[in-house]
Amino acid sequence: MGRILIFGAGLAGTCLAHQLLRRGQEVLIMDAGENHSSSIAAGMVNPMVFRRMNKSWRLDEFMQDAPAFYQEIGSEIGQEVFHPIVIRRFFSSEQEKQLWEERQELTEYQPYLEKLTSEDIQHQGATNLFGSGRVKQAFWIDAQQWVAQNSKYFREKGQLSTEEFEPESWEPGTRSYRNITYDQVIFCLGYRQKTEATFSFLPLQQTKGQTLLIQSAVLPENESLNRKCFVLPMGEQQFKVGATYEWNNASLETTLEAKEQLLNMLASLGNYDPQFLEQKAGVRPTVLDRRPLMGEHPAYQGVYVFNGLGTKGYMMAPTLASELADFILEQKPLNPETDIRRFKQI
Ligand SMILES: Cc1cc2nc3c(=O)[nH]c(=O)nc-3n(C[C@H](O)[C@H](O)[C@H](O)COP(=O)(O)OP(=O)(O)OC[C@H]3O[C@@H](n4cnc5c(N)ncnc54)[C@H](O)[C@@H]3O)c2cc1C
Repeated sequence: MGRILIFGAGLAGTCLAHQLLRRGQEVLIMDAGENHSSSIAAGMVNPMVFRRMNKSWRLDEFMQDAPAFYQEIGSEIGQEVFHPIVIRRFFSSEQEKQLWEERQELTEYQPYLEKLTSEDIQHQGATNLFGSGRVKQAFWIDAQQWVAQNSKYFREKGQLSTEEFEPESWEPGTRSYRNITYDQVIFCLGYRQKTEATFSFLPLQQTKGQTLLIQSAVLPENESLNRKCFVLPMGEQQFKVGATYEWNNASLETTLEAKEQLLNMLASLGNYDPQFLEQKAGVRPTVLDRRPLMGEHPAYQGVYVFNGLGTKGYMMAPTLASELADFILEQKPLNPETDIRRFKQI
């Protein structure tokens, strides 16, 4: 049994910790106790990329793992976090509708796209120039609860300590932190990885995002509307509206500009008489090629990174964490698209 240290208890760190524990490892996590991404996220898992009306990258593999993982871990940590939802996409052009009509005939898309009905085309729930379509198998994870309840769970088991990483106590060559040597050390620091020396050479980007919580008596509570923005029903007539994309921006301030942008996007869907409740800002760890950052440090054996989960983190993390655990413990090769060795300088 190995003794493994993980820095970071966001989505990456917690999923990896569960996958390592399932493989019988001894795991210790250290986290600053200030999460500004996994807990801010809407936690939406949308199988489709609407821009090109394609399936998301490695969709079938991720969807085979993620729902069961979140339900199982949810019962382990004593918090149901998995919520199925129908996404109703209001097409933004005639071309988008035609693409849907083509895709819905293909076997590989049928698990995810409902065949368009006349009701979908004429749907009255929003400004609807080109019709709408319903995505199947979508779900959302209660992201705030995921982070909070995992922290509680690991802390109660003595596997999580709340502390800031101290670079001066870290010796990567010997995998020693505060004079304790670990078999493996994994960095899961999200967007703050950029400023931590060990993996600062990776091309990680910081992409700020903001969301609103609103109240509305007229928005549907059984579907997540989508065009320009998403509207996620949270129960009791409350809805999350998101999200902005602000590249190369790691500030955690909410801005009036983002609030107006989101309210305008919502207004372009319809007049829902939204009452503003709350605004949040966070920072996504993204990579230009839209693939995660996983693998072993080129100079330090036994030192790993799991990052770059980007905008679809909640869908990918369970499978990727499992793959990283197999790579660490059994040297099973990583998917080359996710391996940090894809960058030439490494
Ligand atoms: C507004 C917004 C909306 C989003 N919506 C979605 C969505 O709908 N669906 C989806 O799948 N994804 C969404 N995302 C993206 C998703 O949140 C990220 O992909 C994912 O949360 C990244 O997880 P992480 O564990 O890598 O990073 P983080 O969640 O940032 O976790 C890193 C952890 O490391 C700790 N840490 C950092 N530095 C230090 C240090 N020096 N010392 C000690 N601890 C440290 C932090 O405390 C933190 O808990 C959204 C993100 C944002 C900002």
